[in-house]
Amino acid sequence: MAGELSWRKTVIKYRKFGRLDWKASTLGFGVMRLPSLAGDPSSMDEDEVVRMLRYAIDRGVNYLDLGYPCDREWHERLTRLLARALQDGYRERVKIAANLPSLLIDSPADVERYLDDHLERLQTDSIDFFLFGGLDRQTWPRLQEMDVLSRAEAAMAGGRIKNVGFAFHDYFQALREVLDAYDNWTLCQFQYSYMDIDHHPGAGGIRYAASKGLAVVVTEPLRGGRLTGTPPDSVAAIWAEDPQNRPLSDWGLRWVWNHPEIATVVSDMSTMEQVAENVALADTVEADSLTVPEEVLIGRVRDAYRKLRPVPCTACRGCMPCPLGIDVPRIFELYNDAVMYDDVETARSLYRIERHDIDSCNECGACAAACGLKIAIPDKLKEARKLLVG
Ligand code: SF4
Ligand code: SF4
Repeated sequence: MAGELSWRKTVIKYRKFGRLDWKASTLGFGVMRLPSLAGDPSSMDEDEVVRMLRYAIDRGVNYLDLGYPCDREWHERLTRLLARALQDGYRERVKIAANLPSLLIDSPADVERYLDDHLERLQTDSIDFFLFGGLDRQTWPRLQEMDVLSRAEAAMAGGRIKNVGFAFHDYFQALREVLDAYDNWTLCQFQYSYMDIDHHPGAGGIRYAASKGLAVVVTEPLRGGRLTGTPPDSVAAIWAEDPQNRPLSDWGLRWVWNHPEIATVVSDMSTMEQVAENVALADTVEADSLTVPEEVLIGRVRDAYRKLRPVPCTACRGCMPCPLGIDVPRIFELYNDAVMYDDVETARSLYRIERHDIDSCNECGACAAACGLKIAIPDKLKEARKLLVG
């Protein structure tokens, strides 16, 4: 299929990128799932990765998202490979977004250290978009105390960073605080899919960020592939009504691109077929192009998924903070996702990587008393534990 599509003329769409005098391709290339990232690194076909990246750039993709996987060694190898793909004039045709994981910042000097690492591995003089990753109501005050933005400003003055942004995962009010605290943000990045309209921070957050002049970058439009796997029966029955019989990835991407406030959608692509299909789709989709019946169909799919959730948690975070540091909404999200998308393995793996510990709950009940939905939180945590820990 990639071979056939490579002959097709594609004119990828571009959108204004916030306040910048530059337009981003509506499709951004995320490198987090390049071949074998999740498997055995030694089996990676490096030539194929270079071919995929150059195929996309040759067809107009001009936004590359480096992400920041937990495995630093693997990320280093990936970044060096990206540097190789960007030789021969390709670097000048793209802008690179690099993510600095906020949880790994212990001192202001860490900003320079991570920046030095990125620049050396990418063999470049500057990072176009430097993002503070994983911002939420806990990490943001920490970063402010360390005054990391002064370090970023100094790096911008020295030309090593062109623009500063952040990746955010929390509710709307926390987003307002981040946005209102600094005038020089250029971009913000959110996870967003048709399952995320009212959290992370949802449609309202995206509109607010865009109204403040920031470029909005969206990641995980297909929820890490969960929206393209075999759907549960109740969801499959609704998709079966689609008269156009579109692929599920097509629906997921179209829905996100339908938002005019979104500058680019980063898709983590892992095969040449995916690259070719996404590039071809980005050639055809406009903002505000979904019809009312199409919106209704997706709304019904969303409702059908939600009915499968074992915990009706809205991630409002009203029950937080837990005195023992248990992130109840996040654990419920992992639990709900595992059941809704029939993907226990990913949820278990994230539970381990994010170092949750339901066992430390002493059942004090403070969270349940604060929950507006009267969720019996300690009992539901026990249920979640059975699935997420075993
Ligand atoms: S019941 Fe458990 S999760 Fe809830 S506040 Fe108490 S210790 Fe934290
Ligand atoms: S458990 Fe209740 S209070 Fe806590 S995030 Fe979920 S809905 Fe909100």
